[in-house]
Amino acid sequence: MADSLVEFRNEVAEFLDTSIADGTACPAFGSIMPPDMFDAARAWQRRIFERGYAGLHWPTEYGGQGLSVEHHHVWTEECARRQLASYMNFQGFVLAGPAILKFGTEEQKQQYLRSTLAAEIVWCQLFSEPGSGSDLVSLSTKAEADGDGWVVTGQKVWSSTAQLAQHGILLARTNGDDPGHGGISFFLFDMASPGVDVRPLKQMTGDQEFCEVFLDAAPVAQADLLGPLHGGWRVATSVLADERSAVGAAGIGLEQRTEALLAQTRDLGPVERDRVVDIAVAASATRRLLDRSAGDPFLGPLVKLAMTEFETTRTRASVDLLGPAGAGVGDPQTEFLYAPGMRVAGGTSEIQRNLIGERLLGLPREPKPRS
Ligand SMILES: Cc1cc2nc3c(=O)[nH]c(=O)nc-3n(C[C@H](O)[C@H](O)[C@H](O)COP(=O)(O)OP(=O)(O)OC[C@H]3O[C@@H](n4cnc5c(N)ncnc54)[C@H](O)[C@@H]3O)c2cc1C
Repeated sequence: MADSLVEFRNEVAEFLDTSIADGTACPAFGSIMPPDMFDAARAWQRRIFERGYAGLHWPTEYGGQGLSVEHHHVWTEECARRQLASYMNFQGFVLAGPAILKFGTEEQKQQYLRSTLAAEIVWCQLFSEPGSGSDLVSLSTKAEADGDGWVVTGQKVWSSTAQLAQHGILLARTNGDDPGHGGISFFLFDMASPGVDVRPLKQMTGDQEFCEVFLDAAPVAQADLLGPLHGGWRVATSVLADERSAVGAAGIGLEQRTEALLAQTRDLGPVERDRVVDIAVAASATRRLLDRSAGDPFLGPLVKLAMTEFETTRTRASVDLLGPAGAGVGDPQTEFLYAPGMRVAGGTSEIQRNLIGERLLGLPREPKPRS
């Protein structure tokens, strides 16, 4: 594989164009894989892996290519230009994989990383609970010691891709004496364990991309603890930071969608065009912010807030101005129904604003209500 980024970009472009031509490439679908695209996405991921484009910046001993982050950026950019998926499973590539690389034992790295890149394992994220979303530290799912391992009991919700996943990254309370951060552990959980009941939930788009997951004394082995016992919060915050800052080449898609809106509204009156120009200006500012942030986890809350608020504004304008008849990049009505969920997934806009105030601007912490 070419070391020079220019040569590498040419190689990638040729591979992607060939894959489009022979019908093996999978269209982009964002951070949550729609269940009806599972087969196409898995076949595409296997092809990416076999051709050496999976895990470009992951170490070679775990199935990656040992190349630079810049190589990875080139790959995601070229995929975004062609509106192709750059990987199959966000939860595996952006959340579980990097967490295992940072916190895993050698055995865990050997067991999970290559098989994630090769699409043998699909992951889901088992963090949120009915009573714990923004205030995740209040989670109540318990992992109780049982022989060498634990049994897990509780309920998770909004678990994207859980109905397709073989493994989940799971947060559970292991120390009942500590109701805060210090009582939580992080597990690499086998979704085929006994006592697991996965029930898909229907979204307002009509799709079923996330699920409720009921856990009834489901066993977890000692070997599947990631990071220290009761020290799972540090692993979780690293995963949440990766989740917020994972923009990939989102700026390219954002520009493509804005260009499409500009083209589709060309013949509308000055008032409508004025609204579209505002969106084009916001798109340009958001694109610059994404480029400047370069995936820096510290800037993640800014980036996540800007992206998801922009998409809400753009999709609303698209439906208002074009109605269901508007064609172009994506289906405006589905995009419009999808966008509000993105302001919630991975931490709501209000929580991003809190993080920006407290961590980026150094403002006083928000007061906690007294119990
Ligand atoms: C499309 C989608 C996919 C998701 N996928 C996953 C997944 O795969 N795995 C997973 O674990 N979770 C997932 N989630 C869950 C997501 O992380 C939570 O929905 C989110 O963290 C918010 O939690 P909540 O729904 O419990 O809302 P709550 O925390 O109950 O919040 C309700 C409202 O109160 C506001 N609020 C709460 N606290 C504060 C505060 N301190 N200051 C100001 N306002 C506040 C919130 O902004 C929100 O408007 C997904 C959600 C969506 C929409």
